[in-house]
Amino acid sequence: MIVVFGSLNIDLVARVPALPRPGETVLGPDYVAVAGGKGANQALAARRAGAEVVMVGAVGRDGFADIALSTLAGAGVDLDRIARADAPTGAGFIAVDAAGRNQIVVASGANAHARAAQLDGLGAGPGDTLMLQWEVPEAEILAAARWGRARGLRVMLNRAPAGPVPAELMAVLDLLVVNEHEVLALGAAGEDPDRVADCLSECHRIAVAVTLGAEGGELWADGICHEAPAFPVEPVDTTAAGDTFCGALAAALDRRRGYETAVEFACAAGSLACASLGAQPSIPHRAAIEAAAAELAEQRNPEKYRRTSP
Ligand code: ADP
Repeated sequence: MIVVFGSLNIDLVARVPALPRPGETVLGPDYVAVAGGKGANQALAARRAGAEVVMVGAVGRDGFADIALSTLAGAGVDLDRIARADAPTGAGFIAVDAAGRNQIVVASGANAHARAAQLDGLGAGPGDTLMLQWEVPEAEILAAARWGRARGLRVMLNRAPAGPVPAELMAVLDLLVVNEHEVLALGAAGEDPDRVADCLSECHRIAVAVTLGAEGGELWADGICHEAPAFPVEPVDTTAAGDTFCGALAAALDRRRGYETAVEFACAAGSLACASLGAQPSIPHRAAIEAAAAELAEQRNPEKYRRTSP
């Protein structure tokens, strides 16, 4: 089982001819209201990748809450522990210009009311995974991580958006996931991503996964780097690629896959999410990920391919 403690948002996305400057108003022809938030995206990605998923977080008592929850509900994510807060459902206000550049404001709203105490009594233990991101209050992230560690869950943190990770939180993590920019925020000035990831893994005795965009991803553990390339796709929209990588990685590890296979599965999933528009609609399902991951495995390991081919 994967328990996600994190954010649920509604994204209001408007296409505009040009992004507004301070004080300027621009007119866009239309907008869409779609479900988002790193917690919700990762929960959906893990679910579509084949895991049993419980989502824990907070939404408001408004109409936006229904939109924020609808896709998760349809996918079979357990939503019994979603709290209704006296605050508006979290929202992302996104403007996208003709060149595909964006400007995003995220207002936490109800996400600021997510509490680790909502995890109490949940029947999760050794063999299960707790997945965290950085869009709910820091004190609650730490309390949730400690809750997971005390019960023997694999505790996984996606440190996104970028920033430091306090030592007391590092101490209760098993796996940290960051992208190539976020990893640099955790190292000394001038260090390269590989060195930072290797050092973090060694110093804190945790696994560290780094996503590398079109270059794929890698996972450092016990002095070994497990690498996987991206799956070749024509990228249409990379929104939620990182969230998809996290959810798929959690699902693969939850199925007791080894690091090498898990990072390959996660890279394949992330790449497939780039091949179509939108965040949650683009998150791939297990069968498609397995097929893409098998292709990556064949390319990377000719010995294995020769053994299994007829
Ligand atoms: P984030 O969105 O957090 O910055 P990345 O951009 O590193 O994350 O993407 C996460 C994963 O998505 C990568 O590890 C890779 O597998 C896949 N991916 C991202 N961009 C591309 C791309 N242009 N082509 C193919 N795969 C991609």
